[in-house]
Amino acid sequence: MENTINFGIDLGTTNSAIAKFVKGEVIIFSNPQDYGRNTLPSVVSYKKDKITVGNKAKEFLEKDPKSVVGVFKRKMGTAESFKIKSINESRTPIELSSQVLKELKTFVNTGDTLDAVVITIPASFDTIQSNATKEAGLQAGFKQVVLLQEPIAASLAYANMKKEREMKDGDWLVYDLGGGTFDVALIKIKDGEMKVLDHEGDNFLGGADFDNMIVEKLVIPKIIEKYSFSNLEDEMKSASGKFNAKYYVLLRRAEEAKITLSSKTSAEIVVDGFEDEEGNEVDMEIVITRSEFNELIKPNIDGTIDMIKKIITRNSLKPIDVQFTLMVGGSTYIPYVRSRVEEVLQIPANCEIDPTTAVAIGAAFYAATKPKEISKDDSNKKQTSISIKASYNKASKEKEEFFAARITGDITDLSYRILRQDGGFDSGLKKLGDRINEDLPLVDGAYNFFTLTVYDEQNNIVETDIEPIGINSGFGISGQPIPEDICLEVDDYDNPGKTRLKLIFQKNSILPLRSQGISFPLNKGMIKGNDDDFIYINVLEGSHLALPEANKGIGFMEIRGTQIKRDIAKGSDIEITISISESRDITIATYLNMADQEF
Ligand code: ADP
Ligand code: MG
Repeated sequence: MENTINFGIDLGTTNSAIAKFVKGEVIIFSNPQDYGRNTLPSVVSYKKDKITVGNKAKEFLEKDPKSVVGVFKRKMGTAESFKIKSINESRTPIELSSQVLKELKTFVNTGDTLDAVVITIPASFDTIQSNATKEAGLQAGFKQVVLLQEPIAASLAYANMKKEREMKDGDWLVYDLGGGTFDVALIKIKDGEMKVLDHEGDNFLGGADFDNMIVEKLVIPKIIEKYSFSNLEDEMKSASGKFNAKYYVLLRRAEEAKITLSSKTSAEIVVDGFEDEEGNEVDMEIVITRSEFNELIKPNIDGTIDMIKKIITRNSLKPIDVQFTLMVGGSTYIPYVRSRVEEVLQIPANCEIDPTTAVAIGAAFYAATKPKEISKDDSNKKQTSISIKASYNKASKEKEEFFAARITGDITDLSYRILRQDGGFDSGLKKLGDRINEDLPLVDGAYNFFTLTVYDEQNNIVETDIEPIGINSGFGISGQPIPEDICLEVDDYDNPGKTRLKLIFQKNSILPLRSQGISFPLNKGMIKGNDDDFIYINVLEGSHLALPEANKGIGFMEIRGTQIKRDIAKGSDIEITISISESRDITIATYLNMADQEF
């Protein structure tokens, strides 16, 4: 069993992908159902006794759109669910996402058991959306789910491709325009550490909107120009409309035309297979030019550029301070997107990484630095006479990394040797004691692998349970920021009966976070054993300048009179510690001074 997670998943709105870190490189798995592709459409379809995920499900949209669901990532973290006609039941965004994750597991042909994974989320995902993503991972059978923000993943993919020598300290932007969401993040590189300084985004903008616009603004008007329909748009777009299934056919053709326009200057859309209100067979070919398409999406692209300008201004930067804009997401294949962003901002557009797999690849690089936390199954673990427990940092910017190990078993007359895989380091044969301490020299900007081998007196290899030692001296990330303020709801002494927000963690603070010893006097007492007495601690997410009721509740703790060991007087101190893990688990610990009790 490997001791780092190694697997990374891009759980995308439109497409998902899975990658694995293997000895310094990342492999992206290909879709076994879709020859030559590395991605899986995030679409799920239901038949009476069959669930289909991916391209086959997408095709089913044109036959039975009410039994197919896509774009559910936009609803992550909401109470909404999707009604599915064929089974007459509903499915939540979490359940649908877990189907996609389970399907991605079938891509993996390396024989691994997938119990731990890094899953990416948009930088804009709040705590509830993040937790919903984690839940989808658990439902798909993963026992450990670590979350990573998509712009960091894309940046890691880029930095690991470039290697350190070619990287300059400075700032860059990650511009991610996918099928359903737009995200832009400002990244800072300093001494090989990568940090997200700020981000903006629109959860409701992407290539699917362009497909919609092509059908709505270019195709439908041309159909009704030539044929007689009183309400074609509604009959197509409404789920109960007469031509709803036809709408999905047109959407698919619009997407194909859009993709053609990325390499050609015009594309055709065939409209056929239905009759107008006078019984005429609809049969036409609509030509769309690249300039027509560019004009159509211009307002949206300019909207994304405005968000970038906001970020630049907010961080007191000038466009010249930004090295480049890293283009990610399938929609950045559109030439106009690249040229417009470059032209308006006067920052070079960087198209060096594959925009559809970069996020999964970066997630796998990150996964290689995250230890597995799942308790190892002893029955799977090799039983060897010599057991070695090693400890070292899996990521390091130092020239050497300190390696320590404890040995158990009969070590009489044994020796050991540590070798770096590239042959650049050899500890030589040394006598084995009950401890090993070595400084391991690292190759800068690369993954360093070492093997520790134990030998007997005749230099025969003695089997041990140690795994290869892997240390990443490439790009590390110094953190993922929170997208909104995290506050406590406290009594407002200036407005009796009202509450106000107390800022605990400010937007863009870097995870993990811990705020200890937030202390204030209680505004009421509690009698031991009295169930009517209680203290309610409410953690909210949103702007700290807003009213508490305008923010989202993300967690609470209630302490009742029945739980306390001693009466608590009004005005006595309560101490609260709040922490948030890198994967957004929130912990609240409360200490009641007067009762000397912790909750
Ligand atoms: P997401 O991150 O939302 O899952 P992707 O990054 O996979 O999405 O992007 C999917 C979007 O990219 C789709 O709307 C698709 O039509 C669009 N797309 C893919 N290839 C091209 C292309 N060559 N030209 C234009 N758009 C493209
Ligand atoms: Mg994406």
